[in-house]
Amino acid sequence: MDLAVRHRPAASLLEGIPDCTVRAGAPLAPCTTYGIGGPAEALAEPASVEALREVLGRCRDAGVPVRVMGGGANLLVSDAGVDGVVVRTRRLRGCYRYGNRVTAEAGLPIPGLVTRCAEWGLAGAEALAGIPGTVGGAIAMNAGGRQGEIAPLVESVETCTPDGVLRVRAAADMGFAYRTADLRSETVVAATLGLRREDPAAVRSRAQAIHDAKAATQPLRDRSAGCVFRNPGGKVGAGFLIDAAGLKGATRGGAMVSPRHANFIVNACRATAADVTALAEHVRERVRERFGVSLESEIRIWA
Ligand SMILES: Cc1cc2nc3c(=O)[nH]c(=O)nc-3n(C[C@H](O)[C@H](O)[C@H](O)COP(=O)(O)OP(=O)(O)OC[C@H]3O[C@@H](n4cnc5c(N)ncnc54)[C@H](O)[C@@H]3O)c2cc1C
Repeated sequence: MDLAVRHRPAASLLEGIPDCTVRAGAPLAPCTTYGIGGPAEALAEPASVEALREVLGRCRDAGVPVRVMGGGANLLVSDAGVDGVVVRTRRLRGCYRYGNRVTAEAGLPIPGLVTRCAEWGLAGAEALAGIPGTVGGAIAMNAGGRQGEIAPLVESVETCTPDGVLRVRAAADMGFAYRTADLRSETVVAATLGLRREDPAAVRSRAQAIHDAKAATQPLRDRSAGCVFRNPGGKVGAGFLIDAAGLKGATRGGAMVSPRHANFIVNACRATAADVTALAEHVRERVRERFGVSLESEIRIWA
């Protein structure tokens, strides 16, 4: 059956919402950094907070499942795609400054946030230099690295509940921990960060140095979703264990453990989600056999 016809119900539920594009059966692969994944039953891209509220509210009333995606930089979408509505936030990308505070909408790309803050002479966000994705994804994942994570910068987060109600949550109420936050099924609408004033050139040069250090050790040009596994206990490097197990360069189908950084599984040649999953399972088994450590997934899997 034609995909667009088969997928009509979830899309038609969202008909007529102003400032919102809706596509039935839209392929998700181009929406992810992996370039992998089947279609969404319906893909909605709201361009206003009102449109987002309406999408969430209608889905809630109709009992249609909703998933939210930003830049798809931490996602592995199954080859069969996903049921229900996928909300993509890329059209919500406002960024406003109030003194030392910056409020950024969920769909603003992280690199855009880093650049804007540096231009404004506001320091702190450069810790996120070189991390792809959006502000909403960075909040959901508490994105960061050696130079720090987003959580300590956050003052408050505006969210939307599954029934379309807007809330403002203080940072202390976000349950931030290593690469996670407790969103309680809410969608991030915007985040307000508290930053420090500094010379723009100094902030810019630190951002460049952090980006360059990442690019020197990680395969930033290859298709991936970043680190596949969480560092066990948040301390020992999963990449160190995978490398020590001799797995750099291991393949399954078109997926490969990056020879550059062992915690990256890259889409080397038309990989499928099944290839990535099979290789991740192989890595997990080998590391368990060799070191008695169970690796947990850091990337989010949509099956
Ligand atoms: C080359 C490369 C390098 C990377 N390096 C790092 C790194 O150094 N540090 C790091 O932390 N990460 C890194 N990552 C992973 C990724 O960049 C981060 O996790 C980023 O924060 C994901 O943002 P996103 O918008 O792409 O989220 P997505 O991949 O779209 O979504 C990830 C999760 O967040 C949820 N989500 C997204 N937006 C929202 C929203 N508005 N409201 C509620 N939930 C939402 C999704 O439902 C999903 O569960 C890297 C990825 C790549 C490809």
